[in-house]
Amino acid sequence: MARITPMFRQYLEIKEKYPDAILFFRLGDFYEMFFEDAQIASSILDIALTSRDKGAKEKVPMCGVPAANAAPYINRLVSAGYKVAICEQVEDPKQAKGIVRREVVRVITPGLNLDEDTHSSKENRFLLSLFPGKGWGMAHLDLSTGDFKVTEVQTDEEMLNELFRLEPKEILLPETLKDVPIVAKIRELLPQIFVSFRTFIQEKEKAKEIIKERYQVADLAGFGLAQASVGLCAAASLLEYVIETQKEVSSHLGVPKFYFLSNFLIIDEATKRNLEILRNNLDGTVKGSLLWVLDKTLTPMGGRLLKEWLLYPLRGLKDIESRLEAVAYLVNEPTKRKKLRDLLARIADVERLTGRAAMGVANPRDLLALKNSLLLLPELKGLLPEKVSPLLDETKENLLMPEDLVKNLENTLREDAPVNFREGGIIKEGVHHELDELRRLKDDALSFLAELEARERARTGIPNLKIGYNRVFGYYIEVSKSHLSKVPKDYIRKQTLVGGERFVTPELKDFEAKVLSADERIKEIEQELFLEIRKEVAKEAPRLKKVARALATIDVLTSLAEVAVSNNYVRPKIVEDPGIKIKEGRHPVVEKALPSGSFVPNSVSLDLKENVILIITGPNMAGKSTILRQTTLITLMAHVGSFVPAEEATIGLCDRLFSRIGASDQLSRGRSTFMVEMSECANILHQATSRSLVILDEIGRGTSTYDGLAIAWAVAEFLHEKKVMTLFATHYHELTELAGEYTGIKNFNVAVKAIEDQIIFLYRLLPGPASESYGVQVAALAGLPKEVVARAKEILKSLENKSAGHFRPKREKKQKSLFSGDDILKSQIMSINPDNLTPLEALQKLYELKALA
Ligand code: ADP
Repeated sequence: MARITPMFRQYLEIKEKYPDAILFFRLGDFYEMFFEDAQIASSILDIALTSRDKGAKEKVPMCGVPAANAAPYINRLVSAGYKVAICEQVEDPKQAKGIVRREVVRVITPGLNLDEDTHSSKENRFLLSLFPGKGWGMAHLDLSTGDFKVTEVQTDEEMLNELFRLEPKEILLPETLKDVPIVAKIRELLPQIFVSFRTFIQEKEKAKEIIKERYQVADLAGFGLAQASVGLCAAASLLEYVIETQKEVSSHLGVPKFYFLSNFLIIDEATKRNLEILRNNLDGTVKGSLLWVLDKTLTPMGGRLLKEWLLYPLRGLKDIESRLEAVAYLVNEPTKRKKLRDLLARIADVERLTGRAAMGVANPRDLLALKNSLLLLPELKGLLPEKVSPLLDETKENLLMPEDLVKNLENTLREDAPVNFREGGIIKEGVHHELDELRRLKDDALSFLAELEARERARTGIPNLKIGYNRVFGYYIEVSKSHLSKVPKDYIRKQTLVGGERFVTPELKDFEAKVLSADERIKEIEQELFLEIRKEVAKEAPRLKKVARALATIDVLTSLAEVAVSNNYVRPKIVEDPGIKIKEGRHPVVEKALPSGSFVPNSVSLDLKENVILIITGPNMAGKSTILRQTTLITLMAHVGSFVPAEEATIGLCDRLFSRIGASDQLSRGRSTFMVEMSECANILHQATSRSLVILDEIGRGTSTYDGLAIAWAVAEFLHEKKVMTLFATHYHELTELAGEYTGIKNFNVAVKAIEDQIIFLYRLLPGPASESYGVQVAALAGLPKEVVARAKEILKSLENKSAGHFRPKREKKQKSLFSGDDILKSQIMSINPDNLTPLEALQKLYELKALA
């Protein structure tokens, strides 16, 4: 330690404080990394690993990236799961005595990365903190927008649901939870999340004080935080983390707002996935999801808000109506809608631009984009009606243009300003006297010299006096020998030449000093002015955030209206009492994938009396799942405040949507299909109420026929007893017998038409059970060889004769020999239940059989 250079000593001191981060140590124009950091970074960033003397003979590994273009490198390290600490020179090297002072100015983690390039602009990126107590306190923050929210949940399950809903990039957890099973579970379920362990604030009172002090507020009641407990600890600890890593709380960071999960329709992880709300289940992209159909937003803020609306559908009648009223107005005003959308298309991400200004990272182009967006506010506002919907009124009120700020930006910034504010060329003429003078000086240098030359010739009477410049002496006045006698007293001799002499004057020296330093000084002044105006913007952040929210709201509402018109949706009628009545409903996504007009609409009615449970039978591919999903999607859309794909829809307020559909993508998590299915099912049975809507697609498939059937039967009975509105699609024809035993259970089937060996799907939901399962015909459609289809029909007939169509919960006796001789083949065939196979599985089975023969 004693023999190392002072610079290394400084490095080690700083590094000691950030042991878990890769330290970007500023040395001139580079960020350098040393020791292990350098080894990690050079391999991840694919840059050369070199070495440097640290004083004594040993060398230390080192690598570096250019400071001016460090963002992509930082992003790569952060995406690879590392923290990056940025250490800057915090004093001017010219003024430094000894070694330049350096400090870590920012720590970047996945939850705190502000770089635009790494994220889709329509996506929030949350940092979330979790604090256990009675239940869990959960706080989440999007640093780029400053949105900061807190809630409290009672159970682990609710906590996990909320995690899945928010999909944070990073989670903060108290150190005490390091070895607790629930944390292992979080890591298993959400492997991509970056987890940071920290010391948390444990006491509610202390947490309150921290929040109050940071925001300079006297009381937290206004933010709904008065009653909070574990939530406060989560929020205060998150805040401390932000301060520690960002070094300050910037003006755009809102006071944490409390939200109650009970105000929103609950959508658990399975349902979010099954309904493909934000992304499809095939490749995880937005295409083919509900969002894909509904998102016609024109600004990134609108895109983010629409997602929020879809994940947090409302439960309050008034609030939903307020949105629907606004959408209806925009549907009925096509001209205004078009004008609004034309304006929105020109509006930038005011929310994030404000955040960037507040955090001191906005560049001149950012501020110009902000200004140009704000300039459109009066026109936009003029297009909005009054007293149509409370939501629109509130939104309109918030669309206030901060006139002084906009004027200031407009008067100050040049429209052609570059991205980098250090380059100059940002500030307009007439803003700053000295700046104007300097620029004039620079521009006019030549004419000034010509003018001075003429002036001096006239004054001295020396006709060939000339002004010149060289690198060593700078500007000079040259007089030839023959005229030396006329040189005035104020000329100062500088240099003697063969044919004459060179002089300077105070005026010329002055000019020289000005010209030479002008460039530097121009840049300096421009920087100062820019930073000043950026601060002005930062000061207005709270107001600008409201503007941004209002713009996002208008964007989402017009988007919903646009979608409603182009897709022919209707306004749903929302009522207090539970019940769902959809006339000629359509699946919003499937109908988009089919040629226009070819989707067959269907009506579905559920209530708490006669139609609590609808058992839906029909062959594979008949359209059962589609009906289940469209009913749930329409119910969800109605709660969001969107129009819906139907001729008419009356939707009673729901508390929760449940779904149990397929489980293939969970297989990789090491649980069997059957276990996943049963635990999802258990969850539904425990939680569903008579305000819930449940869809069950084929439960009990992962086990033997009779087990599965028995479970499905018992589940249906239980849901009927609890009066939970349920759509139940099943292959178990036996379940249709339930309708005869319970008044609240009804049979429906999806119609198909059989013409000889062919079946035609009609996609029409009809009352009554399906007459046949047509599994063999569907298998034929899938391309099974003719002989196999014929043989399967024979087998089916003999099976049907045996069981005579009744659900008898005991195992069948062994069938008579079908193939003489080959017992393995026989037993294999006997184990097949054609009703239970998808066409693909049937095909697979055939290959297996063929291999045995
Ligand atoms: P099931 O659940 O009965 O196996 P699906 O609901 O998955 O059947 O539907 C299978 C396919 O049939 C869908 O992918 C879609 O292409 C088509 N389909 C379903 N419902 C309809 C409908 N109402 N109108 C037109 N095509 C439909």
